[in-house]
Amino acid sequence: MSTNDVFQFMNVARDPGAKAEASERKFVFKEIYKPLSTGDATEQAARCLGCGNPYCEWTCPVHNFIPNWLKLVKEGKLFVAAELSHKTNSLPEICGRVCPQDRLCEGACTLNQGGFGAVTIGAIEKYITDEALKAGWRPDLSGVIQTGKKVAIIGAGPAGLGCADILVRNGVKPVVFDRNEEIGGLLTFGIPEFKLEKEVVVRRRKIMEEMGVEFRLNTEIGKNVSFESLLANFDAVFMGMGAYKYMKGGFAGEDLPGVLEALPFLINNVRNNMGTLPAGEAHLSMKDKRVVVLGGGDTAMDCNRTSIRQGAKSVICAYRRDEANMPGSKREVQNAKEEGVNFLWNRQPVGIEKLAGGSLGLKLVTTQLGEADEKGRRKPVVIEGSEEVLECDHVIVAFGFQTEAASWFESAGIKIDQWNRTVAPQEQKFKHQTSNPKVFAGGDLVRGADLVVRAVFEGRNAAEGILGYLGIW
Ligand code: FAD
Ligand code: SF4
Repeated sequence: MSTNDVFQFMNVARDPGAKAEASERKFVFKEIYKPLSTGDATEQAARCLGCGNPYCEWTCPVHNFIPNWLKLVKEGKLFVAAELSHKTNSLPEICGRVCPQDRLCEGACTLNQGGFGAVTIGAIEKYITDEALKAGWRPDLSGVIQTGKKVAIIGAGPAGLGCADILVRNGVKPVVFDRNEEIGGLLTFGIPEFKLEKEVVVRRRKIMEEMGVEFRLNTEIGKNVSFESLLANFDAVFMGMGAYKYMKGGFAGEDLPGVLEALPFLINNVRNNMGTLPAGEAHLSMKDKRVVVLGGGDTAMDCNRTSIRQGAKSVICAYRRDEANMPGSKREVQNAKEEGVNFLWNRQPVGIEKLAGGSLGLKLVTTQLGEADEKGRRKPVVIEGSEEVLECDHVIVAFGFQTEAASWFESAGIKIDQWNRTVAPQEQKFKHQTSNPKVFAGGDLVRGADLVVRAVFEGRNAAEGILGYLGIW
C-alpha cells in the first residue's frame, strides 16, 4: 500500500472531507517575511487606535512601546522609532520576523478583538529597524561612560545577545563565547531561512561589534576554555547556553536508518544552504521522499516546511492531540497547511519498523483527549484496537528539547531544578543570579525551550542584575 493510499484510507476513515483535499493539494511556498513598503507600513500604523491601556504592550514579553512607535511610523520619524524600538528590544528586526504574534502582541490588539484584524505589529517592528539601518541609522553609544568592568557571556543566542546589548550600553565590556562559527544560537542553527534570513543575524553581529561587543566564536566553554578561567578573569559570568537535549519518543525503531532527529536535520539543511557542511557530512535531502514528521510544536512545523522546500513527495505531520491543543503557533500550522502538509490529528506513534521493500512502517494509534494533567492540558488517551501502519521513507522526530547541567555546574555550586533547568529567578535582589553569586543565567537554559523574545528579555534583565551586582546601578 502506498503512502497516498494509506493516508487517504486514514483520512477517509476519520474525516470524510479530507480525501479530495489531499489529492488536490499543491505545494506552495509562503513568503512570510515579505518586506512592507513605506506606504503599507504607514497605512498599517495609522490603523492603531492608540488605546489608553495598550494590551499589545503588556502581552509583548519585552513590553515594547508599540503604540508610540506606530505613531512615529505614521509621522515618518523612522530614526526616532528605531531608537525607541531598541529601548526595550535588543533584536527587534528578528522578533518582528519570528515571534508568534498571533499569540502575543497581535493577538491582544483591540482591533483583532473587535474582528477587524490586528495591526501587523511584527511586520512594522521589522520594517522600522530594517529601513532605519538601510538609511544609515546606528545605535548611539556616544554618551556611554566606560566602567572598566568586563563580563563573560557563554552563548551568542538571543539571551546572550540581549545581555551583551544592555551591558555594553552601560559601559561594561561583554566578551561573548560561542561554540559555533556564527552568532545567533538557534536563530542561525535551527530556525530555517524561510522564517529568518541568515544575513539579518550577520548584520546584527556587525552592529554589535561596532557597539563594542567582542565575540569569540568557535570556542566551547568546558572544552576550549575552562569555566574556572572565566570566573578568574571576568567580573561576572552570564550563561545563555540554551536547551539542546533531544527528547526521544521511547518507542521501538527510533534508531532505524531513515529516522531523523529534528534539530540535526534542520541544522544540516542550514549548513548546506550556507555552504558550511562539515567535510564528510552529506546533505539530508527529502527530495522525492515520503516524509512523516512527529510532533506539534514550531520545530515540527519547521521540519514540515523544510521538507516541502527540499522537494518531498509528500509530508504528513502526526500529532497526538487535536488541532486546538497544538503547542505551536497557529500561524505556523496554517502556513504548513497552505504549503501542502497533511495533518493527522490525534495520532500517537508506538513504533517504527523496516518494511520488506526497504521503506519504513510507522505504527500509529488513534487517541482521544481525556482528563487534564497538572498543567491543565488534557491528556491523550489511546483508543484500543486503533493501530495502523503508515508507509514512508523518513520519519522526523520533533518532540522538543530539554535543558541539562553543564560539566562545571557541580564544582561551581550552580543549582538546577527537577527538570534540569538552571535556577536563576528574576524575583530576587540581583535578577537572574544563580546560586553562585558571580554567575547569572537566562533564556532557554533557565526557562526550558521557549521563545526568542523571552530569551532576549531574560538576557536583558540578567544584565541589569549584573549591573546591580557590580555596583554600577
Ligand atoms: P540558544 O538560541 O539555543 O543559544 C544558545 C547558544 O549557546 C548557542 O549558540 C550554543 O552554541 C551556545 N552554547 C551552548 N553551550 C556552549 C558552551 N559550552 N560554550 C560555548 N557556547 C555554548 N522561537 C520563536 O520565538 N520563534 C520561532 O519561530 C522559533 N522557531 C524555532 C525553531 C526551532 C527549530 C527551534 C529549535 C526553536 C525555535 N524557537 C523559536 C525557540 C528559540 O529559538 C529559542 O527559544 C531561543 O533561541 C533561545 O535562546 P537562548 O539564547 O536561550 O538559546
Ligand atoms: Fe510583538 Fe514580538 Fe515585537 Fe513584542 S517583540 S511587539 S511580541 S513581534
